[in-house]
Amino acid sequence: MKIFLDMDGVIVNFHKEVIKRFNYKGEWPKGEYDCTKVLGMSVRNFWNELDCLRFWADLEIYPEAEEIIRMCEEYVGQENICLLSTPTDHPDCLSGKLKWLQRCIPNYSRNYIFTPHKRFFAHNDALLIDDHERNIDLFTQYGGRTFLYPRPWNKGIESIKTLDTLENALLNFKRLCVSK
Ligand SMILES: [Mg+2]
Repeated sequence: MKIFLDMDGVIVNFHKEVIKRFNYKGEWPKGEYDCTKVLGMSVRNFWNELDCLRFWADLEIYPEAEEIIRMCEEYVGQENICLLSTPTDHPDCLSGKLKWLQRCIPNYSRNYIFTPHKRFFAHNDALLIDDHERNIDLFTQYGGRTFLYPRPWNKGIESIKTLDTLENALLNFKRLCVSK
């Protein structure tokens, strides 16, 4: 049993910094994942503004991140958990993400995979926890198990019970793996 845990949007608060940098006011439009659409910017301008080592290294950790990791550890143990994150095309993004891990969750600073192709890691005993519907759909398609972490930009329902929902998903995952 392996758990692949996404970074941005699950444990890393990417959106908070984006909202601040571009002075975005109001609620994030429900179900819209694409920041450039929400901000009305070109993809090029958006990333030109953000994509540097300091941006990725200094993002805030979500307050619930510790609890998410603790729950995953309870079900599969730390040795079976890997951070799985897609970097941008900028080489500084990779360094920034590693620096973030070293700063915020140092005990996971050697448990990571950075790849644009999360689906390569899909298998029957693997659970992907991610906030991006496309990653979830592909991982499922390639034979993995998934949990869409609810955020305003996806179709998961965010509520005070989000962590209970995750706990249920972990329980089901464990049952499915054990019963094979
Ligand atoms: Mg994400």
